[in-house]
Amino acid sequence: MNAQQKAERLVESLECPPGAGIADIRERVSQAHQKDVVLHPTSDSELRDITGLWVEMEHASHVFYRADDPEIYQAHSIFHEFGHIIADHTTCGVLEFIDNSAISSASLGGQIQRARARGFRYNDDEDLAEEIAYALSRVVIAGTKSNVRAVFE
Ligand SMILES: [Zn+2]
Repeated sequence: MNAQQKAERLVESLECPPGAGIADIRERVSQAHQKDVVLHPTSDSELRDITGLWVEMEHASHVFYRADDPEIYQAHSIFHEFGHIIADHTTCGVLEFIDNSAISSASLGGQIQRARARGFRYNDDEDLAEEIAYALSRVVIAGTKSNVRAVFE
């Protein structure tokens, strides 16, 4: 089973209705995770080097995303972190990449940002989280499509 097929199965298990919004999907992810998942819009300076962050605590999980990003990209970043949660990944690989890379020199700061953008797909966990984000976007878009049809048919 490839990453896209795994992602489709995990998203299907949430049983989201077509056109579900982020709030509904968040509740379903919380149920699957058996912990409340709390969303935190965050200033760009706090999430300078990453677009989203999932932090699991004892009684809740927290997903941080950049309030300054375009809304559609915020949704993608949130869905990516939801992907890590429903796939039961232990950590976000992008963070490992940032922490483990030999990029501690401040003079390489510009290069860190480019590496981050590609870092989304640098291992199997990131591939699966991205595929889940796409699959969740298809759930959201499915509702939009039927609403558009309802207007014109
Ligand atoms: Zn990730």
